[in-house]
Amino acid sequence: MIEQLEPGIARVTFRLPLGIDHVHCYLLRCPAGHLLVDTGLGSRDPEARWRPVLDELDAPIESIVVTHMHPDHVGGARDVAELTGAPVLQGREDFEQCVRAWGRRDPERFAAHWLEQGMPAAAAGGIVADSDRLADAVHFHPAPRLLDPGDEVEGWRVELLRGHADGHIVLVRDGVLIAGDTLLDGITPAIGVYPDSRPDPLGDYFETLARIEELAPRVAYTGHKRTIADPAGRAREIRAHHEDRLARTLAALAGRALTPYEVSLRLFDGDLSPTLRRFATAEALAHLVRLAADGLVERDGDGRYH
Ligand SMILES: [Zn+2]
Repeated sequence: MIEQLEPGIARVTFRLPLGIDHVHCYLLRCPAGHLLVDTGLGSRDPEARWRPVLDELDAPIESIVVTHMHPDHVGGARDVAELTGAPVLQGREDFEQCVRAWGRRDPERFAAHWLEQGMPAAAAGGIVADSDRLADAVHFHPAPRLLDPGDEVEGWRVELLRGHADGHIVLVRDGVLIAGDTLLDGITPAIGVYPDSRPDPLGDYFETLARIEELAPRVAYTGHKRTIADPAGRAREIRAHHEDRLARTLAALAGRALTPYEVSLRLFDGDLSPTLRRFATAEALAHLVRLAADGLVERDGDGRYH
């Protein structure tokens, strides 16, 4: 069940019933045991999910670090904490957003956000239903120890790398980046504007990509898919991808005004599920907001971009 990646770094992978079908959680050896980074979705039967992992480990889980508040990363935090007695550590900003998103849910406001982007009411309703189902699988810890950039956890340095989530943290040590979803291989991390999110997540993400290029780690262990052997090179590829998408967004608006939803239909065509269409709309909006910050487009009173 546990896959050893290099001395002191192992991972366990769980299946996911989402658009992406698996998530990786990492086990970092420390003197007294293991640091668990990320926890998958919350489970109705945490014992069945985690006991085989705990039994296979040669030492206890000492602490649980959450990279960001998306369900597939924070969802099992309380489950594992209850099973092991280990404390949960979560980024300060990320925890605030986690409580806003999952602690005091406001489905009407969530739906209103998508309607404002021009999404048809039926699609927005589908999103709220999906999100209610997902909320049941988010067992975040109510009182984690809060981490700030520059903090150290068992010799790993905490960095704040925004974009995929506003308060996304990563761990860095000796050329190793425990990256969460800041970089992914084969797909690009979703970047979107949500209710209560920071105003320009794509702008934030460009800063994150620059920081990864500057750090130039030897390897990035990511939340999904394959390990990245050239993180700085992958950061450059993803930057080029978003620059191309910004150009395509601008081209879609040539001579016409469109809502973010309509832009999403042009950038991501095809028949998407409500949840995937939400990702597409959030991502289109992130690109529109970035273009607006550069003064290249403008939003009118009807919510259309010119
Ligand atoms: Zn993820």
